[in-house]
Amino acid sequence: MKDKQQDKYKDKDIKKDESLDRDKSRDYIVTVRFYISLEKVVDSSFLEIVDFLKISKFKILKKSIDARNKEHIVAEYNILCEKLADLTLKNIQQTIYALSKKREKGSKSKLYRDVNNYNLKKPGYLNIQKLSIEQNLKKESSLDKSEKFTINLRKHPHRPIIVGFGPCGIFAALALVSKGVCPVIIEMGEMVEKRDKDIEQYIQKRQFNEHSNIVFGEGGAGTYSDGKLYTRSRNELNKEIFSTFIYFGAPVQIEYDAHPHIGSDNLKVIIPNIRDYLQKKGASFFFANTLVDLEKTNNKEAKGEGVWRVKIKDLHSGNLNILETDTVILATGHNNRFLYKILYNLGVKLSPKPFALGFRVEHPKVLIDNDLYGKYAQNLPSAIYNLKFKGKSSNVFSFCMCPGGEVLPANSKIDEIVTNGASRFARDSQNSNSAIVCSVNPGHIRDFYQDLPERVKSFIRFSNFFDDNIINNLEIEIGLINPVKIRLSAKDFDYDLNFINELSLWEYGIVIQQLFEKITYRLSDLYHVTSSSYNIGSSQATAGSFVKKLITPNFIERKEVMAKKIQVSYKDYTEELEKLNEITSYPFGLYPANILNLFPENLIYDFMNAFKYFDRIIPGFIGDGIAEGFETRTSSSIQVGRTSAGEAISNLEAVVDGLFVLGEGSGWAGGITTCAIDGWKTVIENY
Ligand SMILES: Cc1cc2nc3c(=O)[nH]c(=O)nc-3n(C[C@H](O)[C@H](O)[C@H](O)COP(=O)(O)OP(=O)(O)OC[C@H]3O[C@@H](n4cnc5c(N)ncnc54)[C@H](O)[C@@H]3O)c2cc1C
Repeated sequence: MKDKQQDKYKDKDIKKDESLDRDKSRDYIVTVRFYISLEKVVDSSFLEIVDFLKISKFKILKKSIDARNKEHIVAEYNILCEKLADLTLKNIQQTIYALSKKREKGSKSKLYRDVNNYNLKKPGYLNIQKLSIEQNLKKESSLDKSEKFTINLRKHPHRPIIVGFGPCGIFAALALVSKGVCPVIIEMGEMVEKRDKDIEQYIQKRQFNEHSNIVFGEGGAGTYSDGKLYTRSRNELNKEIFSTFIYFGAPVQIEYDAHPHIGSDNLKVIIPNIRDYLQKKGASFFFANTLVDLEKTNNKEAKGEGVWRVKIKDLHSGNLNILETDTVILATGHNNRFLYKILYNLGVKLSPKPFALGFRVEHPKVLIDNDLYGKYAQNLPSAIYNLKFKGKSSNVFSFCMCPGGEVLPANSKIDEIVTNGASRFARDSQNSNSAIVCSVNPGHIRDFYQDLPERVKSFIRFSNFFDDNIINNLEIEIGLINPVKIRLSAKDFDYDLNFINELSLWEYGIVIQQLFEKITYRLSDLYHVTSSSYNIGSSQATAGSFVKKLITPNFIERKEVMAKKIQVSYKDYTEELEKLNEITSYPFGLYPANILNLFPENLIYDFMNAFKYFDRIIPGFIGDGIAEGFETRTSSSIQVGRTSAGEAISNLEAVVDGLFVLGEGSGWAGGITTCAIDGWKTVIENY
């Protein structure tokens, strides 16, 4: 399968020769640095150079682009290649110099002017490791001997159960089969093929499937994503995760790109390949089955230590089943909040954790590319930015950038709206998007709920079109363990902030997220009513604004709106609505809103100042951007108590035997690569 899949995605021009790392004494690491030319795409320039150096066999170890100086953008490739027959460092430089002269004369290109930057380094400069995951996958022997279990877990009490088949569950399963153990995998969502149709149904017909959508289903939340694998942590396992993805069909470039990404189109192929592989190795899958409860009982058959009774519900038939095991790996992500209820009931320690909250911004891709790469933009891959601003109350930063991508509805329930982003491997859509978020901690909760009715009113740009009572009667339910209903009656605001005192501290993040998710949804209903005559509206539309409108002094406007001094005219409103919807890639469209107004004032200031700063780095960031809200699920706001081995810890600080809480839902990992590592490493080190 490997060869077939790799060929499919292999960059046609760039050769990868794995035989090279076999004899290190013969191999060299060569760093090729050159200026980007106006004539060629970056890979073609690179190939021309290696061709000129007569390097026929090579493997790219790293590719990065330094665009800090837009007039002289430098590409750097580290390659592993065989000793160059008769070239020494000196004559390489001479030849390149000669080449550069020739090029300059002929085309006035600066392509090879940076000749002195060509380096030749001896082996040992980089530590080339044979990738152990790949070896394990190739090694059939240990697995072939293993018994192919049927589904009867009672007969096999030690067969581990993995709940959730996202990056964490996938890599935990791969690690288990590499040890000759066949896990049982429970996944609430559908297989990719069916999930794809469910998502299509949602996008086309607004029919939302609560267990099969952008965040739930085979492959987890990351399947319909940009598939960014970049992480700031320099974990040595990153490469292993990448090579496993390549084995199952990911583009080979992810092994060497400085900012690797797989693309949602490739992920949809890779995930079923992994499923097939695991099934062949004896893993069993229960798709469209959800974990409803977990309990530990004493069972003499199972070492006398008690077994986990894993209650699952078949979402098609409604049947309940109980599976028994002594090892449960919970890899359920952080989108299914019900899981925290199960952990809470088990007495597992849950703590609050800071998380990031904000919205998506979209800009024309060409604007971002031109701003970051200048005249060379067309010959370089889609540009990525990484923006940070230190505000007075919070840091504001860009997150999860999807160049040439789309904004997607990443809600986990019908009555929520959540934004996120995705791109195909080619990153070739018209807009580039990213989340602009600020960090939030438990200390912020009161600020978010203080004066909420007033803030909601000033949030809706079209509030003067309908009676105040409509907003006053809006009701949302918040909280998880003891949910409360709050009504936005402005006159007699019929909740006080006492409910905050009733919350467990670990719930604070959920309660802030719910505020944004549910208010946006409820208002999308109103929007539907007000805009149906324009044939654009529907529920599921999300709040949107031109970034330039966010930068205008919102506080003044807010007070004016409240005093009914500002009346948005129908004409202005519809014009704004139409313009926003021409630009957005969000499939359900936007309704105009002052989207910063749902934030507390100190955070509004931070966002406004951050945008002004970002606009200095990327001119047009304010003028040509739109903001869409809200991005509430950047990471888990809860951290589950666990040992260094990943086993849960109770409120009494006792180890909860055999219950591993891993991946994003644990609050100890976030993003595809780190969640995959969490699953893989925990199993390899402990099972
Ligand atoms: C649209 C989008 C784009 C993203 N883009 C990127 C990106 O480019 N790069 C990146 O690093 N990260 C990205 N992320 C985040 C990334 O997807 C997550 O960090 C990662 O998937 C978390 O992995 P996980 O395995 O811990 O959990 P998840 O991927 O959330 O998987 C958990 C799985 O458990 C299942 N499940 C939940 N509850 C139950 C239950 N009761 N019973 C059975 N199964 C259950 C779910 O259906 C799901 O499949 C993106 C997320 C989204 C939504």
